Amino acid sequence: MYNVASIMDNKYIDHKGYPRWKDSGRLVHRTVAANMFGGMLPLGMVVHHIDGNKRNFRKNNLGIMSRSAHAILHIRDKQQNLKSY
Ligand SMILES: [Zn+2]
Repeated sequence: MYNVASIMDNKYIDHKGYPRWKDSGRLVHRTVAANMFGGMLPLGMVVHHIDGNKRNFRKNNLGIMSRSAHAILHIRDKQQNLKSY
């Protein structure tokens, strides 16, 4: 079974619902995404949660896009009355 407690050992959930590393306080999904790009996110890029679950920071759930493309994506979500993340 997927053991959520053990993967959260070194993390906590911040007031917005995002997991952060206990030691650095950095957002987990951003460090995971950065690792896919050799440790640093390309400038101006934001990380999008494909399934909309803020706590799902697995690589296959993260997408990198520009800030403007990301904003448009979420505006479209709202127009379609889908849940917006
Ligand atoms: Zn998003």
